[in-house]
Amino acid sequence: MIRTSYTYAAPDTLEEALSLVGQDGQQVLTGDQSLIGQLKQGIAQPQTLVSLRKIPGMANIDATAGDVQLGALVTYADLSRHSALAGIPALAEAVNTIQDPHLRNHSTIGGALYQGGPIHGPVLAVLAALDAEAVLATQAGEKRVAITELLQNGSSGLLTSGQLLKGVVVPLNQDVTCTYLPLEQLPGQHARKGIAVGFRRTAEGQADQTRLVVAGFTPFPARFDGVDGSVSQLQLEQTMATWLTTVPAGFQRHLIKVLINRALSTIGVS
Ligand SMILES: Cc1cc2nc3c(=O)[nH]c(=O)nc-3n(C[C@H](O)[C@H](O)[C@H](O)COP(=O)(O)OP(=O)(O)OC[C@H]3O[C@@H](n4cnc5c(N)ncnc54)[C@H](O)[C@@H]3O)c2cc1C
Repeated sequence: MIRTSYTYAAPDTLEEALSLVGQDGQQVLTGDQSLIGQLKQGIAQPQTLVSLRKIPGMANIDATAGDVQLGALVTYADLSRHSALAGIPALAEAVNTIQDPHLRNHSTIGGALYQGGPIHGPVLAVLAALDAEAVLATQAGEKRVAITELLQNGSSGLLTSGQLLKGVVVPLNQDVTCTYLPLEQLPGQHARKGIAVGFRRTAEGQADQTRLVVAGFTPFPARFDGVDGSVSQLQLEQTMATWLTTVPAGFQRHLIKVLINRALSTIGVS
């Protein structure tokens, strides 16, 4: 039972939604999967819920030669049915880790980015490794922010500044190779831990501009940059030791190290 009283708005245009999002006490609603539960528990106490469901284009997937644009209301089921996913195999692999039909059909990309949570880790990690960007809209206009930046800073500060997440742009860069390596789980367990690795090859065939993004250990995936094919084993150990201080200690650090080593040997750095 929801004990808080609030106003519900489902505007027909983005402009109208943004005028509401700029006001105190409002909260955006997309797939309803987390927010309604938070309302029932009294954790969220908005004065106005602003649903984005009627705004044209918010559930669209638009593929061009250069990128794939996902509206904030796109679900994992929408994505898995779209032909564009065949061109981004790492993203297809990550989407495939979400097997729960309820979450596949109802969780939105906007909610995943805003809220985080382990189930979204593989998809968010691949988006970061691909250098995807979030499109943030305000009444003053739109701007793009690297998903990596949102992951580092946590995106839940968005609404205080009157912004909403309009969607995500995934670049289709032929120079970038990306793959997702899940950590094998026992049967019946969710494959939420894994590593996304994106890189370019130099003319000499070495990996360059490597991005490693570890999913499932922290609320939002952690991205580690700065390793290329010319790195020495000692430099690699030192870099890895620095990275690992930013993630939980104990066996989890060991697992992350295993994943990083696996990713690096996949691309020929180790
Ligand atoms: C039965 C069930 C089981 C679940 N199990 C898991 C689980 O095992 N692991 C897990 O990680 N999660 C789990 N979840 C949570 C689920 O993953 C949520 O779907 C997810 O967190 C996002 O929810 P949503 O897309 O429905 O967004 P909503 O619930 O509508 O919104 C979530 C938050 O994001 C904000 N928001 C959403 N869209 C935007 C936007 N476009 N711009 C700005 N802010 C926005 C909202 O204001 C709200 O604060 C479960 C949920 C259910 C119902």
